[in-house]
Amino acid sequence: MSQPKSQPIFRFAPSPNGKLHLGHAYSALLNQKLAREAGGKLLLRIEDIDTVRCTPELETQMLDDLKWLGIEWDEKPMRQSENFETYANALKKLQAAGLVYPGFMSRGEVTKIVNEAKKAGTIWPRDPDGTPHYPPNDKNMNKNQRAEMLGSSAPNSYRLDMSKALETIVPPLQWHEKDMHIEADPKAWGDVVLARRDIPTSYHLACVLDDADQNITHIVRGNDLYSATAIHRLLQELLDLEAPRYHHHKLILDEDGQKLSKSRKDTSLSDLREQGKSPNDIKILIGFS
Ligand code: GLU
Repeated sequence: MSQPKSQPIFRFAPSPNGKLHLGHAYSALLNQKLAREAGGKLLLRIEDIDTVRCTPELETQMLDDLKWLGIEWDEKPMRQSENFETYANALKKLQAAGLVYPGFMSRGEVTKIVNEAKKAGTIWPRDPDGTPHYPPNDKNMNKNQRAEMLGSSAPNSYRLDMSKALETIVPPLQWHEKDMHIEADPKAWGDVVLARRDIPTSYHLACVLDDADQNITHIVRGNDLYSATAIHRLLQELLDLEAPRYHHHKLILDEDGQKLSKSRKDTSLSDLREQGKSPNDIKILIGFS
């Protein structure tokens, strides 16, 4: 599947777990514009690892909305739910390198530990999205304790041992953002999830593997994923994958300055279509020219 890297390759990678909104329209249109200007290709990746929340109906609606908007793809779309084996193999590789540990705690148990630490006056670290770091209890288990736990319960998650992972790579870890070199700070994320019991991979792992598989050279996506790029760069180093260039774009916000959500009806493309809006009206609404 490997292709020569001479032609720039862009991708739009939505998740069909809700309706596409104006923010998705902006991202897809910007990807198409930049791909065309660069004489490159634009690929679609359907990020449907959450096979419960991502439904065939939402996927059909998503494809139809994008077509209506005038987005065209240069290759057949990639569907992540067909790539679980690739993700499992990469996880095994990281496990074999001693960089992964099983996490047994539920969200409730994590919250309890964090709250108790707070009461005792400890400032608990939080990741750039505001989620508390996973407590070190599971990482610090000795071999016997871990074997005993694995004998009695299935892990809730598999986590990257962030400190070990950082020892493995050769610094500095950077990424190319437009014309700048950005220092990546994956440590800020703590021991990120690589796979879960209910979803056998994570967005981060699947994303970097598929970007490499699709030979993506340019990643154009919303600013909400800017900080996550540090994790992606780390995983690319650990898995020996080439780093694409990144371009994080502005987010389309609602009238209260909040990020749009997939559950809001009035900004979903399908609802705007039903109200009689044209693709051009959408471009005007998001300030895309
Ligand atoms: N699937 C992600 C989303 O819909 C985007 C992932 C990416 O562009 O890296 O937010």
